[in-house]
Amino acid sequence: MIEGDATRAVVVLSGGQDSTTCLYWAIDRYGSDKVETLTFDYGQRHRIELECAARVAGFAGVPNTILPIDTFAALGGDALTDTDVPVQAGIDDATGLPNTFVPGRNLVFLTFAAAFAYRRGATNLVTGVAQTDYSGYPDCREGTITSLQHTLRLGMEFDVTIHTPLMHLSKKETVELARDLGALPAMAHTHTCYNGKRPPCGTCPACELRAKGFAEAGVEDPLLATQ
Ligand SMILES: [Zn+2]
Repeated sequence: MIEGDATRAVVVLSGGQDSTTCLYWAIDRYGSDKVETLTFDYGQRHRIELECAARVAGFAGVPNTILPIDTFAALGGDALTDTDVPVQAGIDDATGLPNTFVPGRNLVFLTFAAAFAYRRGATNLVTGVAQTDYSGYPDCREGTITSLQHTLRLGMEFDVTIHTPLMHLSKKETVELARDLGALPAMAHTHTCYNGKRPPCGTCPACELRAKGFAEAGVEDPLLATQ
């Protein structure tokens, strides 16, 4: 068992609101000189996500590494990587999930993130998944993450801990946490819209969920304030 450095953390940064909040959670906990970010280029149709992740990391003063994983785009069939599949609101009858669900995505991301953390000797992994007030992706649930952490510890003989600061928070509470951590200025550089629009389209499920969270928290979204 490799013990690694428990004072260092790797944050999985998508360039969105939740992972940006997690980045500030990690900086608050470990200090910016002990935190770095990892972004996956999985063939997402909206390349702006990669730019936003780099901008958020730069704004926060921490390193950002982009890892390419083009296999999901080759698999196709989901609205986030397959340009033939339009983003739909609501639930797909066949799967009981939104058609933005990319099967296995978080499992693969966190496995590669753990391998990255292993190389860096950092035992803390931070991810913005949440099982509340969310799209119901099964790989975002606590049971999945706990199980995966166990598997990674066994399979890598590495004492990795997967932190999920947003797991039980509503969108409103996530906005409040971002505010309390001083993460709001960085939100101007984030990207949420499933349609890849900037300024955001305001009508897709991701835009609606984001707007609902800020409205309920009584906080103005810095992304909209900059437009
Ligand atoms: Zn949108």
